[in-house]
Amino acid sequence: MTQCDTLELAIIADVHYVCKAEHICPIPERNAHLGRELLRRALRRIQLSGAPDALVLMGDLVDDGRAPGAEHDLAALKEELENVGVPTIVVPGNHDGAPERLLRIFGDRPGVHEVKGYLLITFADRYDSDDRAERSQEGLALVRDVASSHPGAPLIVFQHNPVYPPIESSYPYNLTNASEVMKVYSENGVVLSVSGHLHSGHKLICADDVGYIICPALCEDPFRFLRIKVRGGEISVQEEALKMPKEPPLVDVHVHTQYAYCATTVTAQGAIERARKLGLSGIVLTEHAGHLYVSPKDSGRIIEKPQLLRRYRSEGRDRMRAYRKEMEALRSSFVRLGLEVECDRNGELSLLEEDREGWDLLVGAVHMLPEAYSENVERGFMMVTEKLLQRGVKVLAHPFRLFRRHGMETPRHLFRPMAKLLAAYGVAAELNFHTNEPDPEFFRLCLEEGVPIALGSDAHALYEVGEFAPHIEFLRKLAVEGNLKNILFYP
Ligand SMILES: [Zn+2]
Ligand SMILES: [Zn+2]
Ligand SMILES: [Zn+2]
Repeated sequence: MTQCDTLELAIIADVHYVCKAEHICPIPERNAHLGRELLRRALRRIQLSGAPDALVLMGDLVDDGRAPGAEHDLAALKEELENVGVPTIVVPGNHDGAPERLLRIFGDRPGVHEVKGYLLITFADRYDSDDRAERSQEGLALVRDVASSHPGAPLIVFQHNPVYPPIESSYPYNLTNASEVMKVYSENGVVLSVSGHLHSGHKLICADDVGYIICPALCEDPFRFLRIKVRGGEISVQEEALKMPKEPPLVDVHVHTQYAYCATTVTAQGAIERARKLGLSGIVLTEHAGHLYVSPKDSGRIIEKPQLLRRYRSEGRDRMRAYRKEMEALRSSFVRLGLEVECDRNGELSLLEEDREGWDLLVGAVHMLPEAYSENVERGFMMVTEKLLQRGVKVLAHPFRLFRRHGMETPRHLFRPMAKLLAAYGVAAELNFHTNEPDPEFFRLCLEEGVPIALGSDAHALYEVGEFAPHIEFLRKLAVEGNLKNILFYP
Protein backbone atom coordinates (compact mmCIF):
# COMPACT_ATOMS: atom_id res chain seq x y z
CA MET A 1 0.00 0.00 0.00
CA THR A 2 1.22 3.51 -0.80
CA GLN A 3 0.11 6.42 1.33
CA CYS A 4 2.20 9.01 -0.46
CA ASP A 5 -0.56 9.63 -3.00
CA THR A 6 -2.98 12.41 -2.21
CA LEU A 7 -6.53 11.26 -1.71
CA GLU A 8 -9.13 13.79 -2.84
CA LEU A 9 -12.62 13.51 -1.44
CA ALA A 10 -15.80 15.48 -2.01
CA ILE A 11 -18.21 15.39 0.91
CA ILE A 12 -21.91 16.23 0.68
CA ALA A 13 -24.20 16.05 3.71
CA ASP A 14 -27.87 16.46 4.55
CA VAL A 15 -29.74 17.00 1.30
CA HIS A 16 -33.20 16.45 2.87
CA TYR A 17 -34.87 16.11 -0.53
CA VAL A 18 -38.65 15.82 -0.87
CA CYS A 19 -40.44 15.47 -4.17
CA LYS A 20 -42.48 12.27 -4.62
CA ALA A 21 -42.55 11.31 -0.95
CA GLU A 22 -45.87 11.92 0.82
CA HIS A 23 -44.33 14.29 3.27
CA ILE A 24 -44.11 18.03 3.77
CA CYS A 25 -40.84 19.17 5.27
CA PRO A 26 -41.77 21.23 8.35
CA ILE A 27 -38.60 23.33 8.17
CA PRO A 28 -38.50 25.75 5.19
CA GLU A 29 -34.77 26.47 5.73
CA ARG A 30 -34.13 22.97 4.43
CA ASN A 31 -35.26 23.87 0.92
CA ALA A 32 -36.45 20.28 0.64
CA HIS A 33 -37.94 20.76 -2.84
CA LEU A 34 -34.56 21.88 -4.18
CA GLY A 35 -32.57 18.89 -2.91
CA ARG A 36 -32.06 17.16 -6.21
CA GLU A 37 -31.13 20.37 -7.96
CA LEU A 38 -28.69 21.36 -5.21
CA LEU A 39 -27.04 17.97 -5.53
CA ARG A 40 -26.74 18.46 -9.29
CA ARG A 41 -25.25 21.92 -8.80
CA ALA A 42 -22.74 20.60 -6.27
CA LEU A 43 -21.77 17.73 -8.56
CA ARG A 44 -21.24 20.10 -11.48
CA ARG A 45 -19.14 22.37 -9.30
CA ILE A 46 -17.10 19.38 -8.12
CA GLN A 47 -16.47 18.32 -11.72
CA LEU A 48 -15.51 21.83 -12.72
CA SER A 49 -12.60 21.90 -10.32
CA GLY A 50 -11.41 18.37 -11.14
CA ALA A 51 -13.10 15.11 -10.21
CA PRO A 52 -12.18 13.74 -6.76
CA ASP A 53 -11.16 10.12 -6.10
CA ALA A 54 -14.43 9.52 -4.28
CA LEU A 55 -17.61 11.29 -3.31
CA VAL A 56 -19.06 10.58 0.12
CA LEU A 57 -22.72 11.29 0.86
CA MET A 58 -23.09 11.75 4.61
CA GLY A 59 -26.76 10.79 4.99
CA ASP A 60 -30.16 12.45 5.38
CA LEU A 61 -30.47 12.40 1.61
CA VAL A 62 -34.23 12.65 2.04
CA ASP A 63 -36.24 14.43 4.72
CA ASP A 64 -38.47 11.50 5.66
CA GLY A 65 -37.37 8.13 4.40
CA ARG A 66 -40.35 6.44 6.05
CA ALA A 67 -42.89 8.40 4.03
CA PRO A 68 -44.53 6.49 1.17
CA GLY A 69 -42.75 7.31 -2.08
CA ALA A 70 -39.43 8.25 -0.45
CA GLU A 71 -37.71 5.47 -2.41
CA HIS A 72 -38.47 7.41 -5.62
CA ASP A 73 -36.71 10.46 -4.23
CA LEU A 74 -33.69 8.36 -3.27
CA ALA A 75 -33.64 6.83 -6.73
CA ALA A 76 -33.81 10.31 -8.28
CA LEU A 77 -30.78 11.40 -6.27
CA LYS A 78 -28.95 8.26 -7.30
CA GLU A 79 -29.74 9.13 -10.92
CA GLU A 80 -27.93 12.45 -10.52
CA LEU A 81 -24.75 10.55 -9.68
CA GLU A 82 -24.87 8.37 -12.73
CA ASN A 83 -23.14 10.65 -15.20
CA VAL A 84 -20.58 11.93 -12.75
CA GLY A 85 -18.22 8.99 -13.05
CA VAL A 86 -16.88 9.27 -9.49
CA PRO A 87 -17.05 6.32 -7.05
CA THR A 88 -19.69 7.16 -4.47
CA ILE A 89 -19.80 6.04 -0.86
CA VAL A 90 -23.00 6.46 1.15
CA VAL A 91 -23.52 6.75 4.89
CA PRO A 92 -27.11 6.35 6.13
CA GLY A 93 -28.65 9.14 8.23
CA ASN A 94 -31.52 9.21 10.70
CA HIS A 95 -33.90 10.67 8.07
CA ASP A 96 -33.24 8.09 5.34
CA GLY A 97 -35.50 5.30 6.58
CA ALA A 98 -34.11 1.76 6.55
CA PRO A 99 -30.34 1.93 6.00
CA GLU A 100 -30.45 -1.33 4.02
CA ARG A 101 -32.77 0.22 1.45
CA LEU A 102 -30.68 3.36 1.10
CA LEU A 103 -27.51 1.31 0.61
CA ARG A 104 -29.23 -0.99 -1.88
CA ILE A 105 -30.43 1.94 -3.98
CA PHE A 106 -26.94 3.46 -4.00
CA GLY A 107 -25.18 0.13 -4.45
CA ASP A 108 -23.07 0.45 -1.32
CA ARG A 109 -22.58 -1.28 2.04
CA PRO A 110 -21.17 -0.18 5.38
CA GLY A 111 -17.59 -1.13 6.23
CA VAL A 112 -14.22 -0.82 4.53
CA HIS A 113 -13.75 0.86 1.16
CA GLU A 114 -10.26 0.98 -0.25
CA VAL A 115 -9.60 4.06 -2.38
CA LYS A 116 -6.16 4.84 -3.76
CA GLY A 117 -4.53 2.80 -1.01
CA TYR A 118 -6.46 4.57 1.75
CA LEU A 119 -8.91 2.71 3.97
CA LEU A 120 -12.26 4.41 4.33
CA ILE A 121 -14.65 2.92 6.88
CA THR A 122 -18.35 3.79 6.89
CA PHE A 123 -20.83 3.08 9.66
CA ALA A 124 -24.59 2.68 9.70
CA ASP A 125 -25.09 3.52 13.37
CA ARG A 126 -28.47 2.42 14.72
CA TYR A 127 -30.96 4.89 16.17
CA ASP A 128 -33.31 4.36 19.06
CA SER A 129 -36.84 5.77 19.08
CA ASP A 130 -35.55 9.11 20.42
CA ASP A 131 -33.12 9.54 17.51
CA ARG A 132 -30.12 8.69 19.69
CA ALA A 133 -27.37 6.86 17.84
CA GLU A 134 -24.83 4.53 19.36
CA ARG A 135 -21.78 2.89 17.84
CA SER A 136 -22.15 -0.86 18.20
CA GLN A 137 -19.43 -3.06 19.68
CA GLU A 138 -19.06 -4.73 16.26
CA GLY A 139 -18.49 -1.29 14.78
CA LEU A 140 -15.71 -0.60 17.25
CA ALA A 141 -14.23 -4.06 16.68
CA LEU A 142 -14.15 -3.38 12.94
CA VAL A 143 -11.87 -0.38 13.47
CA ARG A 144 -9.50 -2.49 15.61
CA ASP A 145 -9.52 -5.34 13.08
CA VAL A 146 -8.79 -3.11 10.11
CA ALA A 147 -6.01 -1.38 12.02
CA SER A 148 -4.37 -4.62 13.10
CA SER A 149 -4.53 -6.15 9.61
CA HIS A 150 -3.10 -2.94 8.05
CA PRO A 151 -0.49 -1.78 10.54
CA GLY A 152 0.40 1.88 10.21
CA ALA A 153 -2.27 2.57 7.58
CA PRO A 154 -4.11 5.87 8.01
CA LEU A 155 -7.82 5.19 8.43
CA ILE A 156 -10.61 7.59 7.55
CA VAL A 157 -14.00 7.04 9.14
CA PHE A 158 -17.45 8.30 8.20
CA GLN A 159 -20.65 8.35 10.22
CA HIS A 160 -23.76 10.51 10.09
CA ASN A 161 -23.67 11.71 13.71
CA PRO A 162 -20.89 13.89 15.06
CA VAL A 163 -18.40 12.23 17.39
CA TYR A 164 -16.51 15.34 18.42
CA PRO A 165 -16.84 18.14 19.50
CA PRO A 166 -19.74 17.66 21.94
CA ILE A 167 -22.76 19.63 20.70
CA GLU A 168 -24.67 21.48 23.42
CA SER A 169 -28.33 20.86 22.61
CA SER A 170 -31.44 19.20 23.94
CA TYR A 171 -31.35 17.18 20.69
CA PRO A 172 -28.92 14.21 20.77
CA TYR A 173 -26.43 15.17 18.05
CA ASN A 174 -23.41 13.20 19.21
CA LEU A 175 -23.08 9.43 19.31
CA THR A 176 -24.12 8.41 22.82
CA ASN A 177 -20.85 6.52 23.35
CA ALA A 178 -18.73 9.17 21.64
CA SER A 179 -15.90 9.08 24.20
CA GLU A 180 -15.51 5.32 23.74
CA VAL A 181 -15.49 5.81 19.96
CA MET A 182 -12.85 8.54 20.21
CA LYS A 183 -10.61 6.29 22.25
CA VAL A 184 -10.82 3.51 19.66
CA TYR A 185 -10.16 6.01 16.84
CA SER A 186 -7.07 7.49 18.45
CA GLU A 187 -5.63 4.08 19.44
CA ASN A 188 -6.04 2.63 15.96
CA GLY A 189 -4.56 5.15 13.59
CA VAL A 190 -7.69 6.99 12.50
CA VAL A 191 -6.47 10.26 10.98
CA LEU A 192 -9.82 11.77 10.07
CA SER A 193 -13.42 11.36 11.18
CA VAL A 194 -16.14 12.90 8.99
CA SER A 195 -19.76 13.44 10.09
CA GLY A 196 -22.89 15.29 8.99
CA HIS A 197 -26.22 15.73 10.81
CA LEU A 198 -25.36 19.06 12.48
CA HIS A 199 -26.52 21.36 9.69
CA SER A 200 -24.29 24.25 10.63
CA GLY A 201 -21.26 21.97 10.34
CA HIS A 202 -18.03 22.34 12.26
CA LYS A 203 -14.52 23.13 11.12
CA LEU A 204 -11.72 20.60 11.40
CA ILE A 205 -10.49 20.17 14.97
CA CYS A 206 -8.05 17.73 16.46
CA ALA A 207 -8.36 15.53 19.56
CA ASP A 208 -5.79 12.87 20.50
CA ASP A 209 -4.23 13.01 17.02
CA VAL A 210 -7.54 12.42 15.25
CA GLY A 211 -9.02 15.14 13.02
CA TYR A 212 -12.78 15.63 13.38
CA ILE A 213 -14.90 17.52 10.88
CA ILE A 214 -18.65 18.00 10.45
CA CYS A 215 -19.79 18.71 6.91
CA PRO A 216 -22.48 21.44 6.77
CA ALA A 217 -25.86 20.66 5.21
CA LEU A 218 -26.09 21.12 1.45
CA CYS A 219 -29.78 21.98 1.78
CA GLU A 220 -29.36 25.08 3.95
CA ASP A 221 -28.13 28.51 3.03
CA PRO A 222 -25.37 29.03 1.88
CA PHE A 223 -25.52 25.46 0.46
CA ARG A 224 -22.10 24.17 1.42
CA PHE A 225 -20.07 21.04 0.78
CA LEU A 226 -16.46 20.06 1.40
CA ARG A 227 -13.41 19.09 -0.59
CA ILE A 228 -10.89 17.25 1.54
CA LYS A 229 -7.35 16.28 0.63
CA VAL A 230 -5.55 13.63 2.64
CA ARG A 231 -1.87 12.93 2.20
CA GLY A 232 -0.70 10.34 4.71
CA GLY A 233 -1.76 11.93 7.98
CA GLU A 234 -1.98 15.48 6.59
CA ILE A 235 -5.43 16.88 5.98
CA SER A 236 -6.56 20.00 4.19
CA VAL A 237 -10.17 21.08 3.91
CA GLN A 238 -11.79 23.46 1.48
CA GLU A 239 -15.36 24.50 2.10
CA GLU A 240 -17.38 25.56 -0.92
CA ALA A 241 -20.76 27.27 -1.06
CA LEU A 242 -23.17 27.14 -3.96
CA LYS A 243 -24.36 30.56 -2.93
CA MET A 244 -22.51 33.35 -4.69
CA PRO A 245 -20.53 35.89 -2.68
CA LYS A 246 -22.15 39.28 -2.03
CA GLU A 247 -19.19 41.11 -3.48
CA PRO A 248 -19.00 41.85 -6.30
CA PRO A 249 -22.77 42.07 -6.89
CA LEU A 250 -23.67 39.58 -9.63
CA VAL A 251 -26.53 40.14 -12.05
CA ASP A 252 -27.64 37.50 -14.53
CA VAL A 253 -28.49 39.40 -17.71
CA HIS A 254 -29.68 36.43 -19.75
CA VAL A 255 -32.38 34.14 -18.40
CA HIS A 256 -35.06 32.37 -20.40
CA THR A 257 -38.57 31.58 -19.24
CA GLN A 258 -41.36 29.09 -19.83
CA TYR A 259 -42.04 31.00 -23.08
CA ALA A 260 -38.88 29.66 -24.77
CA TYR A 261 -39.48 26.76 -27.13
CA CYS A 262 -36.07 25.43 -26.16
CA ALA A 263 -36.74 25.71 -22.40
CA THR A 264 -36.42 22.51 -20.41
CA THR A 265 -37.23 23.25 -16.75
CA VAL A 266 -36.79 27.03 -16.59
CA THR A 267 -39.70 29.22 -15.50
CA ALA A 268 -39.59 32.91 -14.62
CA GLN A 269 -40.82 32.28 -11.06
CA GLY A 270 -38.41 29.43 -10.50
CA ALA A 271 -35.49 31.41 -11.90
CA ILE A 272 -36.23 34.31 -9.58
CA GLU A 273 -36.37 31.98 -6.58
CA ARG A 274 -32.97 30.50 -7.50
CA ALA A 275 -31.42 33.89 -8.17
CA ARG A 276 -32.47 35.13 -4.74
CA LYS A 277 -31.49 32.00 -2.84
CA LEU A 278 -28.14 31.73 -4.57
CA GLY A 279 -27.15 35.28 -3.78
CA LEU A 280 -27.46 37.16 -7.06
CA SER A 281 -28.13 40.88 -6.95
CA GLY A 282 -30.54 40.77 -9.83
CA ILE A 283 -31.78 38.95 -12.87
CA VAL A 284 -32.99 39.96 -16.32
CA LEU A 285 -35.61 37.83 -18.05
CA THR A 286 -34.64 37.87 -21.71
CA GLU A 287 -36.89 35.70 -23.80
CA HIS A 288 -36.14 34.97 -27.46
CA ALA A 289 -38.18 37.66 -29.22
CA GLY A 290 -38.73 35.35 -32.19
CA HIS A 291 -40.32 32.71 -29.97
CA LEU A 292 -42.80 35.32 -28.77
CA TYR A 293 -44.03 36.05 -32.29
CA VAL A 294 -44.11 32.83 -34.25
CA SER A 295 -44.75 29.12 -33.80
CA PRO A 296 -41.91 26.68 -33.03
CA LYS A 297 -42.03 25.56 -36.65
CA ASP A 298 -41.44 29.10 -37.91
CA SER A 299 -38.98 30.23 -35.27
CA GLY A 300 -36.00 29.23 -37.39
CA ARG A 301 -37.30 31.17 -40.41
CA ILE A 302 -37.67 34.71 -39.10
CA ILE A 303 -34.23 35.79 -40.27
CA GLU A 304 -35.12 35.08 -43.90
CA LYS A 305 -38.84 35.85 -43.57
CA PRO A 306 -39.11 38.78 -41.17
CA GLN A 307 -42.64 39.45 -42.47
CA LEU A 308 -43.74 36.45 -40.38
CA LEU A 309 -43.66 38.65 -37.28
CA ARG A 310 -46.23 41.04 -38.68
CA ARG A 311 -48.33 38.21 -40.02
CA TYR A 312 -48.56 36.43 -36.65
CA ARG A 313 -49.36 39.75 -34.96
CA SER A 314 -52.15 40.64 -37.35
CA GLU A 315 -53.60 37.13 -37.03
CA GLY A 316 -53.48 37.55 -33.26
CA ARG A 317 -51.26 34.48 -32.88
CA ASP A 318 -48.19 36.03 -31.27
CA ARG A 319 -47.39 35.84 -27.55
CA MET A 320 -45.38 39.04 -27.14
CA ARG A 321 -48.07 40.87 -25.19
CA ALA A 322 -48.83 37.84 -23.06
CA TYR A 323 -45.15 37.54 -22.15
CA ARG A 324 -44.88 41.21 -21.32
CA LYS A 325 -48.03 41.18 -19.22
CA GLU A 326 -47.09 38.06 -17.29
CA MET A 327 -43.52 39.19 -16.64
CA GLU A 328 -44.56 42.74 -15.80
CA ALA A 329 -46.17 41.35 -12.66
CA LEU A 330 -42.77 40.00 -11.57
CA ARG A 331 -40.81 43.14 -12.40
CA SER A 332 -38.95 44.83 -9.53
CA SER A 333 -35.60 46.33 -8.73
CA PHE A 334 -34.38 42.71 -8.56
CA VAL A 335 -36.17 41.36 -11.63
CA ARG A 336 -35.71 43.28 -14.87
CA LEU A 337 -37.50 42.59 -18.09
CA GLY A 338 -35.92 42.25 -21.48
CA LEU A 339 -35.60 40.27 -24.68
CA GLU A 340 -32.97 38.40 -26.63
CA VAL A 341 -33.17 39.79 -30.15
CA GLU A 342 -31.61 38.90 -33.48
CA CYS A 343 -31.05 40.68 -36.76
CA ASP A 344 -32.98 39.70 -39.88
CA ARG A 345 -31.87 39.74 -43.52
CA ASN A 346 -32.80 43.44 -43.79
CA GLY A 347 -30.64 44.35 -40.82
CA GLU A 348 -33.66 44.96 -38.61
CA LEU A 349 -34.26 43.61 -35.13
CA SER A 350 -36.60 40.64 -34.69
CA LEU A 351 -38.95 43.03 -32.94
CA LEU A 352 -41.96 44.90 -34.31
CA GLU A 353 -41.86 48.69 -34.17
CA GLU A 354 -44.68 48.91 -31.64
CA ASP A 355 -42.93 46.47 -29.28
CA ARG A 356 -39.62 48.33 -29.02
CA GLU A 357 -40.30 50.47 -25.97
CA GLY A 358 -40.41 49.64 -22.31
CA TRP A 359 -37.70 47.01 -21.89
CA ASP A 360 -34.95 47.20 -19.31
CA LEU A 361 -32.49 45.42 -21.56
CA LEU A 362 -32.14 44.07 -25.07
CA VAL A 363 -29.55 41.34 -25.43
CA GLY A 364 -28.45 40.85 -29.03
CA ALA A 365 -27.50 37.45 -30.39
CA VAL A 366 -26.28 36.06 -33.68
CA HIS A 367 -27.70 32.52 -33.80
CA MET A 368 -27.67 32.28 -37.57
CA LEU A 369 -26.72 34.46 -40.48
CA PRO A 370 -28.91 35.55 -43.38
CA GLU A 371 -28.37 33.23 -46.36
CA ALA A 372 -26.84 36.10 -48.30
CA TYR A 373 -23.73 35.68 -46.16
CA SER A 374 -23.35 31.95 -46.59
CA GLU A 375 -20.32 32.53 -48.84
CA ASN A 376 -18.65 34.94 -46.47
CA VAL A 377 -19.51 33.99 -42.95
CA GLU A 378 -16.87 36.11 -41.23
CA ARG A 379 -17.91 39.28 -43.02
CA GLY A 380 -21.59 38.48 -42.42
CA PHE A 381 -20.93 37.86 -38.76
CA MET A 382 -19.26 41.25 -38.30
CA MET A 383 -21.95 43.08 -40.30
CA VAL A 384 -24.88 41.47 -38.53
CA THR A 385 -23.26 42.09 -35.17
CA GLU A 386 -22.73 45.76 -35.98
CA LYS A 387 -26.38 46.07 -37.00
CA LEU A 388 -27.41 44.68 -33.61
CA LEU A 389 -25.20 47.19 -31.85
CA GLN A 390 -26.62 50.05 -33.94
CA ARG A 391 -30.17 48.99 -33.08
CA GLY A 392 -29.69 49.51 -29.35
CA VAL A 393 -28.76 46.20 -27.73
CA LYS A 394 -26.68 46.74 -24.60
CA VAL A 395 -25.22 43.24 -24.36
CA LEU A 396 -23.86 40.98 -27.09
CA ALA A 397 -24.85 37.43 -26.15
CA HIS A 398 -22.27 34.64 -26.40
CA PRO A 399 -19.90 36.36 -28.87
CA PHE A 400 -18.45 33.96 -31.50
CA ARG A 401 -20.58 31.01 -30.38
CA LEU A 402 -22.05 30.94 -33.90
CA PHE A 403 -18.83 29.43 -35.25
CA ARG A 404 -18.61 26.74 -32.59
CA ARG A 405 -22.24 25.81 -33.07
CA HIS A 406 -21.75 25.39 -36.80
CA GLY A 407 -18.60 23.36 -36.43
CA MET A 408 -16.40 26.12 -37.81
CA GLU A 409 -13.09 27.29 -36.51
CA THR A 410 -13.40 30.46 -34.43
CA PRO A 411 -11.86 33.34 -36.41
CA ARG A 412 -9.50 34.57 -33.73
CA HIS A 413 -8.25 37.39 -35.93
CA LEU A 414 -11.69 38.97 -35.44
CA PHE A 415 -11.30 39.14 -31.65
CA ARG A 416 -9.64 42.56 -31.70
CA PRO A 417 -11.99 44.11 -34.31
CA MET A 418 -14.98 42.77 -32.37
CA ALA A 419 -13.71 44.15 -29.07
CA LYS A 420 -13.16 47.53 -30.75
CA LEU A 421 -16.65 47.42 -32.23
CA LEU A 422 -18.21 46.71 -28.82
CA ALA A 423 -16.16 49.50 -27.28
CA ALA A 424 -17.25 51.95 -29.99
CA TYR A 425 -20.93 51.25 -29.32
CA GLY A 426 -20.57 50.95 -25.55
CA VAL A 427 -21.98 47.41 -25.59
CA ALA A 428 -21.00 44.69 -23.10
CA ALA A 429 -19.63 41.28 -24.08
CA GLU A 430 -21.49 38.44 -22.44
CA LEU A 431 -19.56 35.71 -20.65
CA ASN A 432 -21.73 32.66 -21.25
CA PHE A 433 -21.01 28.97 -20.60
CA HIS A 434 -24.33 27.59 -21.82
CA THR A 435 -23.21 25.06 -24.48
CA ASN A 436 -20.31 27.41 -24.95
CA GLU A 437 -16.63 27.69 -24.18
CA PRO A 438 -15.65 31.33 -24.14
CA ASP A 439 -12.14 32.14 -25.35
CA PRO A 440 -10.05 33.89 -22.68
CA GLU A 441 -8.12 35.77 -25.34
CA PHE A 442 -11.25 37.50 -26.62
CA PHE A 443 -12.21 38.62 -23.13
CA ARG A 444 -8.69 39.78 -22.42
CA LEU A 445 -8.94 42.02 -25.47
CA CYS A 446 -12.38 43.24 -24.37
CA LEU A 447 -10.91 44.31 -21.04
CA GLU A 448 -8.04 45.99 -22.84
CA GLU A 449 -10.52 47.94 -24.98
CA GLY A 450 -12.62 48.86 -21.94
CA VAL A 451 -15.61 46.68 -22.90
CA PRO A 452 -17.72 45.76 -19.84
CA ILE A 453 -18.34 42.07 -19.21
CA ALA A 454 -21.92 40.90 -18.72
CA LEU A 455 -22.64 37.66 -16.87
CA GLY A 456 -25.23 35.44 -18.50
CA SER A 457 -26.41 31.99 -17.50
CA ASP A 458 -28.52 31.75 -20.68
CA ALA A 459 -30.54 29.44 -18.46
CA HIS A 460 -32.93 27.06 -20.19
CA ALA A 461 -33.02 24.87 -17.07
CA LEU A 462 -33.45 25.98 -13.47
CA TYR A 463 -30.22 24.47 -12.21
CA GLU A 464 -28.30 26.90 -14.44
CA VAL A 465 -29.64 30.03 -12.72
CA GLY A 466 -27.35 31.61 -10.17
CA GLU A 467 -24.30 29.45 -10.90
CA PHE A 468 -21.57 31.93 -11.75
CA ALA A 469 -18.63 29.98 -10.33
CA PRO A 470 -17.24 29.26 -13.83
CA HIS A 471 -17.62 32.93 -14.76
CA ILE A 472 -15.80 34.15 -11.67
CA GLU A 473 -13.04 31.60 -12.10
CA PHE A 474 -12.66 32.59 -15.77
CA LEU A 475 -12.31 36.26 -14.87
CA ARG A 476 -9.88 35.51 -12.03
CA LYS A 477 -7.72 33.55 -14.47
CA LEU A 478 -7.63 36.64 -16.69
CA ALA A 479 -5.89 38.18 -13.69
CA VAL A 480 -8.45 40.90 -13.27
CA GLU A 481 -6.99 43.21 -10.64
CA GLY A 482 -9.06 44.65 -7.84
CA ASN A 483 -12.82 44.50 -7.56
CA LEU A 484 -14.55 42.67 -10.42
CA LYS A 485 -17.33 45.20 -9.98
CA ASN A 486 -15.30 47.69 -12.00
CA ILE A 487 -15.35 45.56 -15.13
CA LEU A 488 -18.82 44.03 -14.88
CA PHE A 489 -21.86 45.28 -16.74
CA TYR A 490 -24.90 46.21 -14.66
CA PRO A 491 -28.24 46.81 -16.37
ZN1 LIG B 1 -30.07 16.49 8.55
ZN1 LIG C 1 -29.50 13.72 10.58
ZN1 LIG D 1 -30.40 32.81 -24.93
